[in-house]
Amino acid sequence: MASGDALGNLKGLRITSLDGDDEEEREQEIAIDEDDDDDEDEEAEDSVILGFLKKPKNPRSLLRHLFPSKAGGVPAWLDPVNLPSGRSCLCDICGEPLQFVLQVYAPEDKECTFHRTLFVFMCTSMDCLRRDQHEQWKRPPHKPSRSVKVFRCQLPRHNAFYSSEPPKKDDKASGTAVALCNWCGTWKGTKHCSSCRRAIYCSEKHRVKHCNFGHEPDCKRVRISSQSYDSSHDNSGAAMELQKEVACNTLWPEYKIIQEDESAYDTQMSEDNVCGSSLVPRNRTDESIMSSLLEAFEGDGDRKSWASFEERIGMAPEQILRYCSSTCAKPLWPMSSGQPSKADIPKCRYCNGSLRFEFQILPQLLYYFHVRNDINSLDWATVVVYTCEASCEASVAYKEEFVWVQLS
Ligand SMILES: [Zn+2]
Ligand SMILES: [Zn+2]
Ligand SMILES: [Zn+2]
Ligand SMILES: [Zn+2]
Repeated sequence: MASGDALGNLKGLRITSLDGDDEEEREQEIAIDEDDDDDEDEEAEDSVILGFLKKPKNPRSLLRHLFPSKAGGVPAWLDPVNLPSGRSCLCDICGEPLQFVLQVYAPEDKECTFHRTLFVFMCTSMDCLRRDQHEQWKRPPHKPSRSVKVFRCQLPRHNAFYSSEPPKKDDKASGTAVALCNWCGTWKGTKHCSSCRRAIYCSEKHRVKHCNFGHEPDCKRVRISSQSYDSSHDNSGAAMELQKEVACNTLWPEYKIIQEDESAYDTQMSEDNVCGSSLVPRNRTDESIMSSLLEAFEGDGDRKSWASFEERIGMAPEQILRYCSSTCAKPLWPMSSGQPSKADIPKCRYCNGSLRFEFQILPQLLYYFHVRNDINSLDWATVVVYTCEASCEASVAYKEEFVWVQLS
């Protein structure tokens, strides 16, 4: 499944070494390593790709035409025109526009998913995340109110926005892109500043925030520069000039996500795997021995689960992301309670097909985001993303997928 022409093309396309860093080049290859073992009851022995954060030496390497995987800052929208809109951009609980968490470039071996990126957003309020906890259990026909959202965007090799050939180091993003909010730099701008008519915002909330923050001096400068503005530029050019400045200073710091295969770390795991319940057993015999051992010592499930979670993560403690390309992969749960059953995972809202686990975000990300460690600060044990198994096409460019959050 992982071989063939398309993957060859993708490897050619995969962005490496814009910083002139050869080590990164090696790390960034996504190794899709399928295993024939797909017994239902057994945790499949799939290779997990770990994501680590690194400050980009060249922030330009995170621009959208280079198809980055990144965390913090603003999203590098794959489809720069048909962005999510309306309520999709808002926390369903408090109504604030959501903040960008991270995006993962994860193309698949199909024509329509030649480019494919998943985008995760979250409300920064811990109160909202706590309420989100109750909402995620709701099953149809109830419509849950979520404070965490994930979108899938995909494009064929031949598309309206990017060359079908791999980009080069010095390429600039070209083509049209919608103007983004001058406050958050994240969502599509739909409301203009009534005074300069240049500054644009995703929402009334962000217009007001910019106003309170002191958009006025800028506002005048924009009015002056727009009078001397070269009319040969089209509107989208003008919009792009403006969007370079993101006024709000509360975005999370920006990082590049570097990928490495977990197998590079698991030499010790294969020797010790009898110790932990969620470690991957090498064969069935090991597993049955292990489960009888665990039954004999049935104690605090969460404590045991947490211990084996910690042990597995401990092999590469700086990981912030665990990605698995196999459709039968399972998340690594920090706790045994509060996991979704099969029935808690909804069907794809577009094709009604099954969703599968694709990646999970670890709490280490909060450390890199400098989120404070107090009672009202954002905190989670893991954020698990489920996506349409078929990566279906739909009438919208950004398809909302499903997230499950486990709090610690
Ligand atoms: Zn909220
Ligand atoms: Zn905004
Ligand atoms: Zn203005
Ligand atoms: Zn679908």
